[in-house]
This record gives sequence, structure tokens and C-alpha cells, in this order.
Amino acid sequence: MLPDRERDGRNSRDIRVPAPPPRRGRHHGHGPGLARIGRLVGTRTVWTTVCDGEFFCPGCGGDRNYQRRTGRRRFVLLGLPLLSRGDTGPVVECAACRGHFGLDALDHPTTVRLAAMLREAVHTIVIAVLTTGGAASRTTLDAAVATLRGAGFDDCTGERVVALVQALAADTGRPGAPDFAPGLAIELHEALGPLAPHLAPAGREALLLKGARIALTDGPYTPAERDVLATAGCALSIGTDDVARLMAAAQRTPS
Ligand SMILES: [Zn+2]
Repeated sequence: MLPDRERDGRNSRDIRVPAPPPRRGRHHGHGPGLARIGRLVGTRTVWTTVCDGEFFCPGCGGDRNYQRRTGRRRFVLLGLPLLSRGDTGPVVECAACRGHFGLDALDHPTTVRLAAMLREAVHTIVIAVLTTGGAASRTTLDAAVATLRGAGFDDCTGERVVALVQALAADTGRPGAPDFAPGLAIELHEALGPLAPHLAPAGREALLLKGARIALTDGPYTPAERDVLATAGCALSIGTDDVARLMAAAQRTPS
């Protein structure tokens, strides 16, 4: 966050003349006069809006509208802009709290976007685990539907899940075919990779555990299920040791 003095576009940096100490006698009126001059000399920033949108404001903590702005600074004397002092910004200005932030504030997803990315991540992990053959088991299918409904896919049904698994298999090739695993890995990395930096370790581990628990509903992990979970762990930036630890933990404490 930029210093407060940069926030106000009208008089962002006054060069103040120090007011003299109060005097006794006839000259005590000079102090306010000098202070007034101080207000008339300084640098004024005129902001221009480049574009706008929605972001997560780190200042007031929520999804807000923002304006991306660049500023032109001018030296001001007696209220009149004189010399150009160069450009400043670009900054992101929150429409709610008027705070100014660097452009990296736009790298963080809004809470609405983050929730959508989380839903998509659960969806991708569940379907990826099922492509290894789990969709054939009723227990596994029921667990997958329950997990997807819990993630916000309220109208999820077993039939839809089977259709999705078949569609993904058609898209990435047949399970066991040489191009199947790379295709599935791309799907997992695309859905999980952009989300990983925004989640705490516990959040990333919870996603992997959802996949592990579904894989375990029809018996111990198959080699293909291990591969999918290892790939999901990698896409979530979870180390291989931690992936092994989480997979073992899921076996000890089935949901
Ligand atoms: Zn704000």
C-alpha cells in the first residue's frame, strides 16, 4: 500500500513551510500567513483512469471494484500547476476504501473467483480419479456424487458423473493408452496449478485427500489411482513425501 500522501489526487504532497514560533506583540499575525503559503506550494497529482474491474482489496478485505490509474505530477505554486514532475503509478484504486495498491494486487483472485476455482479443482480431481476405472463401482460413484454436491454441484447425479468420465476419457484417450496419462496430467495441472498459490497447505492437502478417499472406496489404491493422485499432488505443489503421507493417512482414516 502506498503512503497516505499519495492517495489524495488533489494535493498529494505539500511542501510545507514551517510556521514560525508564536510571537508577542504586533507581529503575531505572520504565522498563519506563512502557513497559507505552504499550502499553495507543492506537488499535485492528476490521476487518469486507464481501465476498471473487480479485485480483492487487500485494504478493506473483500471483492471490490477498482480503477487502474496513472498519475501526472506537477509542481504547483500559488495553486497554479507549473512544471511537470513526471508520471507516477500505475496504481490500482479501490472504489470502496480509495486505497492505492501496486498492480500485483490484481494477481489475487476475488473470493467469488477463488470459490469457482475450488469447485473446479474438486471436480477435476474427482473425475480424474474415476477415469482410472472407479466409475464402474456403485460405492465409488456415490462417494463421488456426494463429494461433488458438497463442493457446490447441487444437481450432480451418478449418470452425469459417468458421462463426464467418458467425455474426459474420449478427450484424453483410453485409460492405458500412451497419450492418456499426459492428457489427464494437463487437465489436472490446468485446474489445480493456478489455484495452488492462493491456498494454505491445509487447503491443498484437503483437495488431495478428497481424491484419495474416493480412490479408496473400491479397495486399496490401484497403480493408476496412485499415478493420478501423485500428479494431482504435483499440480497442487505438494511434495512427493507429503503426497505419500496423505495417501497413507487417507487409508488409516477413511471418511
Ligand atoms: Zn478497499
